[in-house]
Amino acid sequence: MRIETLAVHIGHSSDSSGGAVAPPLVLSTTFARDPEQRPLAGHTYARSGNPNRDDLERLLAALEGGDEAVTFSSGQAATHSVLHALSPGDHVLLPAEAYYGTLALAADHYERWGLIVRHVDMTDQTAVERALRIPARLVWIETPSNPRLQITDIAAVSRLAHGVGAVVVVDNTWATPIWQRPLDHGADLVLHSATKYLGGHSDLTAGAVIARRGAPLIARIRDIQGQLGAVPSPFDCWLLQRSIPTLAARVRAQSASAATIAAVLAAHPDVRVVHYPGLGEHPHHDVAARQMAGGYGGMLAFELRGGREQALAVAARVRLFQRATSLGGYESLIEHRASVEGPRSGTPPALLRLSIGLEHVDDLLADLSAALALA
Ligand code: PLP
Repeated sequence: MRIETLAVHIGHSSDSSGGAVAPPLVLSTTFARDPEQRPLAGHTYARSGNPNRDDLERLLAALEGGDEAVTFSSGQAATHSVLHALSPGDHVLLPAEAYYGTLALAADHYERWGLIVRHVDMTDQTAVERALRIPARLVWIETPSNPRLQITDIAAVSRLAHGVGAVVVVDNTWATPIWQRPLDHGADLVLHSATKYLGGHSDLTAGAVIARRGAPLIARIRDIQGQLGAVPSPFDCWLLQRSIPTLAARVRAQSASAATIAAVLAAHPDVRVVHYPGLGEHPHHDVAARQMAGGYGGMLAFELRGGREQALAVAARVRLFQRATSLGGYESLIEHRASVEGPRSGTPPALLRLSIGLEHVDDLLADLSAALALA
């Protein structure tokens, strides 16, 4: 079955009692046992499992071509579970550019806990090979990366990592399984902030780790889910099941608009550079074209010739784009990442990040052109 069909049908258990087509929401924290103390229907306690969470995990595993998904209360909790599955003293190779929170979590908590964290430009295979002369236990890929949409060749870096026995995890939040399925390119684990495109409506936080059967670390990650307890609520699982059937339609529309906006911005005299892997001039366009299935996502960033002042002025003048962090919802957002990330930010101050929503692309273009003309 194609991904659109999987998204509609997998994990959508219907209500056997009343015939409701939309799945029921099960809020119970505890589940009854028979006189022999056996769980009546498989579940025992909501932290260990819940029907909505089971359905969601089956669905996410199917979308990524995996066998198992482990869900969490946020993307950060999912990231935490992967790092926590390692042991003090293990080496971790992180990308030089990735979501700020991922790098901060590793630096602020896991270096103190005993992980040895190193950073490398994951888009440069020679640099990765050199870095792996000191073997790592885990290699982290985020592609496209936040905020400059750098593209890492998942298959090539997975080969290098596996050569030294490292586990490869790919944060697939920005691409979504509609455009990129890292397990098909050799990765061991896929990570999502489900808060973004999977949720799609900016009304929940959740995360997930997905793997094939028997993949390294996944059993320990499942254990961490139950024991550390950062589980998604039944309602958030239900909301995700409600949102994922429209994932393909949303992401395709958002990506088409993003591609148009990227091309228009690239020709604007006030714009120094546009970061969008769908553009032929993007430095890693060829890799993106090879590993992404015909689309490049709904995120883009651009840098203004007028520097920080002009970036802030454009962000101040847009009317349809909302100034807010996050991404992947149906509404378009604009963000001055350097301001949001704070003093440790490595993001260029002239950069604005756009999350393209489902508004008509002409209205979004008119909004950006008017803001650029006034800034
Ligand atoms: N990974 C990426 C690529 C993200 O953009 C984010 C959040 O912006 C996260 C992980 C963390 O997810 P959450 O905010 O759901 O904890």
